[in-house]
Amino acid sequence: MGWLEAAGDRALAEAAGRELMAVARTAPLDDMLDPWPNLDDPDHALRTVETFHHPVATLRMGQGDDPMAVTDGDGRIRGLEGAWCIDASAIPRVPSANTHLAVIALAEKLGAGFLELTGHGDVAVSPA
Ligand SMILES: Cc1cc2nc3c(=O)[nH]c(=O)nc-3n(C[C@H](O)[C@H](O)[C@H](O)COP(=O)(O)OP(=O)(O)OC[C@H]3O[C@@H](n4cnc5c(N)ncnc54)[C@H](O)[C@@H]3O)c2cc1C
Repeated sequence: MGWLEAAGDRALAEAAGRELMAVARTAPLDDMLDPWPNLDDPDHALRTVETFHHPVATLRMGQGDDPMAVTDGDGRIRGLEGAWCIDASAIPRVPSANTHLAVIALAEKLGAGFLELTGHGDVAVSPA
């Protein structure tokens, strides 16, 4: 996925890691948490960062005046005739919950719209 390949992202992750480590060393957290690595270790955040399996927004949905919005509100990919995106990649921002239910809701809504807009409403969609 190319996580932390951009220097700005690495610097932000490192700064966030340092902040977290500093907070974790204050009372009462310092009594409850295992010892943290040396605050001067510049690579700690970079060695331990995880994505937690919920990437979204690689084809994110948005208004026409948003230069980063690849798909429109119906899931159509802008600039590609007949191409649609109906999965987690269209979710504009990481939701404040896990992604599975959001994907199902998005797929049901955009899938129904896709069938209607493309005139394929009579096509049976397998529940599997
Ligand atoms: C380890 C892990 C744990 C997770 N745990 C949770 C959780 O507990 N709760 C939660 O809400 N979310 C969880 N998620 C996130 C959730 O699973 C995803 O957000 C969701 O599955 C994304 O749905 P999707 O339809 O966008 O993509 P996917 O579910 O990845 O579906 C993509 C499908 O496309 C197929 N495909 C790929 N390329 C091609 C191709 N060229 N031709 C044909 N088919 C292709 C793939 O085989 C796959 O079936 C977890 C994710 C991971 C990786």
